[in-house]
Amino acid sequence: MKPLQVPAAGFRRIAVLRLSSLGDVILTLPVVHALHRAYPGARIEYWTREEYGDVLRFDPAVGHVRALERDAMRIEDLVSMSAELEECDLIVDLHGSARTRVLTFRQKGRVLRAPSSRVRRLRWVHARWSSPAAAAPTAERYARSLAPLSIATHGAPRMTCGGEAEAWADAWIARRGFDRPVAIAPAARHATKQWIESSWIEIADRLGKKGIPVLAFSLAREKPTFGALAAAIERRAEGAWLCESLPRMAALLSRCRAAVTCDSGLMHLAAARALRVVALYGSTVPELGFAPQGEGHAVLCRHEPCQPCTLHGRERCPLGHFRCMTGITPDEVWSALAVDVPAAR
Ligand code: SF4
Repeated sequence: MKPLQVPAAGFRRIAVLRLSSLGDVILTLPVVHALHRAYPGARIEYWTREEYGDVLRFDPAVGHVRALERDAMRIEDLVSMSAELEECDLIVDLHGSARTRVLTFRQKGRVLRAPSSRVRRLRWVHARWSSPAAAAPTAERYARSLAPLSIATHGAPRMTCGGEAEAWADAWIARRGFDRPVAIAPAARHATKQWIESSWIEIADRLGKKGIPVLAFSLAREKPTFGALAAAIERRAEGAWLCESLPRMAALLSRCRAAVTCDSGLMHLAAARALRVVALYGSTVPELGFAPQGEGHAVLCRHEPCQPCTLHGRERCPLGHFRCMTGITPDEVWSALAVDVPAAR
């Protein structure tokens, strides 16, 4: 890749673009931090959809979050917003979508992009007979966008959640008296990425018998999907279901001993708060590039012959048996969770 000429005084204003989704935005954090280390005098602005702005809002490396409203994503809106990027002397487009190409079209500043792994990922779904290699971890792929600057990223993504959220989490834990709970995040955007509710209940029950508190995390709209699990958790004194803001969930996650999650944004959030994660894969596989980043995580994936059947998830198993998830047993999850082992890292 051709090296990029850096202005003598360094960059003044850098924009990083990743509009969605939660996991992807979290996985861009090492790039943001590497840019900040390399150009401490530059103002870094991050462009993302408003619901993900809190991933960046409290990060000392980020000078400004440009939050895009959900209903302001038409082409004409983006053309008009692109004028705000004219003062940037460097733009790092980590989305590479039609929308970010509109935003970055004809900008004076140099635009860097991450290489795409879409073809390889599609081979995993539609042409496994061609024996595709695993896609590079997405955080690593994003890091490659900085190659023309000879800048390297360091370590796994880490998210800052701000003083208010940290104080709130301290007060919450003190009020409930929970000692290093286990976090669970049973929901995912697509049904085929969710583990079986009765299996979640079994894990919650086993934790209860050991006297370990359980904290379930989800969006408010996701909780009713797991009515029986919510009831099982909330009838215990040492159990709670939280549908809080992203910074508050992040703050509370880092006070847990471990997390069990599906392949979801909350999996990446837990890992970005230095929590050991047990990640359960249904209709996707970690080889698509979205395994939790960092050391010590456990990934449970059956690699059924039909798996992965989708890049992002489906509303139901097209084969009806849903073996990718029904085949993951509570015993396997319990063993991977290893709650008898001290979990602080
Ligand atoms: S069992 Fe196979 S076909 Fe069904 S959702 Fe899982 S991966 Fe897809």
